[in-house]
Amino acid sequence: MIYTGVLTKMQTEFLDPIQYYLVFKTDFVHMNQLLDKTMHLKHLGYECLSCGLNKEIYRQGFCKDCFFDKPVAGDWIMRPELSTAHLDQEDRDLAYEKKVQLQPHIVYLANSSNVKVGVTRKSQVPTRWIDQGAHEAVEIVEVPNRYLAGIAEVALKDHVADKTNWRKMLKNDIKDLDLTEWRDKLKPFLPEETQAYFIQNNKETELHFPVNQYPEKPKSLNLKKDIEFSGKLVGIKGQYLIFEDDTVFNVRANEGLVVDLSI
Ligand SMILES: [Zn+2]
Repeated sequence: MIYTGVLTKMQTEFLDPIQYYLVFKTDFVHMNQLLDKTMHLKHLGYECLSCGLNKEIYRQGFCKDCFFDKPVAGDWIMRPELSTAHLDQEDRDLAYEKKVQLQPHIVYLANSSNVKVGVTRKSQVPTRWIDQGAHEAVEIVEVPNRYLAGIAEVALKDHVADKTNWRKMLKNDIKDLDLTEWRDKLKPFLPEETQAYFIQNNKETELHFPVNQYPEKPKSLNLKKDIEFSGKLVGIKGQYLIFEDDTVFNVRANEGLVVDLSI
């Protein structure tokens, strides 16, 4: 069986364990069913997720021109505190920015390798946590726009990490922590404007990933350089495919690559 298409981050379903799907234009691959099977990946070219051209991908699945030009790649995506739609101020396309920024956002604590703070649209919970490979997470603030979530995150970054150590996450070198305790400890550091949106009483969400074997020394597959790879799939965590020989492949970091996937 050969599937051909452009990689986009795997779609997920929050079940126990989490279910993963690779979605191509004409095919839909249920990745959990490929566990313990040998698969072959081959890099064929590129397809920018914005313009669709076969141009080298620069960042986030976009070619360089689209990354610096299109509203879907504005700086406020990675740095929510730069959001300005609530002030009626345009970055690249005000209508688009209002649609995305002026909706409920969540500031959360997630534990994937360590406790980290993050921001996501409310509609992206728990998808965001799954994509990060967090085994536990809790919402701490719900605000009406992206800007407020951004300034809360910036304030908390002084007291808690904002990055995941992907090697630790993949090796499952993790601890169970009481995130509600962290939430209460961090509350005093929230900016004044966001204090009223603090979520006092909710429980941690636990996430279970379909992994039969964790890598001891994860090594990242660079499909742009190596072009082809064959291996037995032994797990999926975050947006990573984990293979028997400790090779790992970050699907999300390879968005925009056109590949053949054969099983
Ligand atoms: Zn493009």
